[in-house]
Amino acid sequence: TRVVCLVRRPDGEPVPADFAVEERPLPPLGEGQLLVRNLYMSVDPSMRGRLESTEKHYTHNFTPGSPLDGRALGVVKESRCASMPPGTYVRHQLGWREWAVLDAADTDGAGRIDPRSAPLSTWLGLLGQTGFTAYVGLTRIAELRPGDTVFVSAAAGAVGTAAGQFARLLGAERVVGTAGGPDKCALLVKEFGYDAAADYRAEPVREALARLAPDGLDVYFDNVGGEQLAAALHALRTGGRVALCGMMSQFGGERRSADINQLIQAVLKRLTLRGFIVRDHEDLRPEFERRVAGWLGEGRITARETVVDGLDNAAGALLSLLGGGNVGKMLVRLSDP
Ligand code: NDP
Repeated sequence: TRVVCLVRRPDGEPVPADFAVEERPLPPLGEGQLLVRNLYMSVDPSMRGRLESTEKHYTHNFTPGSPLDGRALGVVKESRCASMPPGTYVRHQLGWREWAVLDAADTDGAGRIDPRSAPLSTWLGLLGQTGFTAYVGLTRIAELRPGDTVFVSAAAGAVGTAAGQFARLLGAERVVGTAGGPDKCALLVKEFGYDAAADYRAEPVREALARLAPDGLDVYFDNVGGEQLAAALHALRTGGRVALCGMMSQFGGERRSADINQLIQAVLKRLTLRGFIVRDHEDLRPEFERRVAGWLGEGRITARETVVDGLDNAAGALLSLLGGGNVGKMLVRLSDP
């Protein structure tokens, strides 16, 4: 099968030549295994840290000369597992290749996907891990309450577009977001449930928050870290809650900043800051799927995606995501079902 390999670790920012598409033999199908034709794969910021050898990660780091992997969705073409016959749609972790041989037991959570209940690609986006991340972060980690004022950073991305819409439906009083550029900011208000938005590249976020949420924040959903986290710490009210979801601004050693000093705000205002990894919260998934599929079916939320075609363009999709080239969930489409 064709796979995307890491050729070498990036020297600073990753570039296209750090990756190559190569042909690799597929292992023979063993008992309990599936041959899956991948249809969509998820492009995730967390892959950036996995390209480095030193970056600590909650899963393994990639090795030069070896294929990448990541979340994907495909259809079973051959099966040696009676409960997952050919034609079954599954989510799994062996993306970044066109075909995958995997243990049926390693397909995700619910494993099989019902392609009739929602468009296939949504099972990697709004109804998949990024939507689930937004849901867990708001409900369990930040303990969102009706009437809260909520701030979300990287608001036009996969997690951010879900978080803004969910916050509104879960009863937030005011939802504000930041994103790169005026076009994304306009979309936040027009399509994704935000009351107001600011371009973090055009003005200091501390000033933007004073303008967009003059009475202060109850919840900050942090996708970015750095300057925006520091600004949010200043804007939070006493007793405010922060869901630490990711740190887009902190990839690559040279960009790490001294904003950590602003943590004194957490002392003064008795804030709660809680980091989380979504995979520890699988118990919430049935509730999440029921509610979000309901909102989607009723037309109350939008599942926005940026779709790139073909494995040859997959590395480019990752580089584009890191530079803000996506609105909503970044996906690579490999084949039609
Ligand atoms: P996004 O779709 O949000 O894509 C990343 C976005 O980050 C880009 O579109 C870009 O948008 C923005 N960005 C890039 N560089 C910077 C920067 N220096 N400062 C601010 N924004 C920047 O990705 P996801 O929705 O998949 O992920 C969002 C966050 O959630 C990530 O931090 C990710 O690691 C985290 N995550 C955490 C999980 C968990 O279990 N804790 C699970 C899944 C995701 P823009 O144009 O606005 O700059």
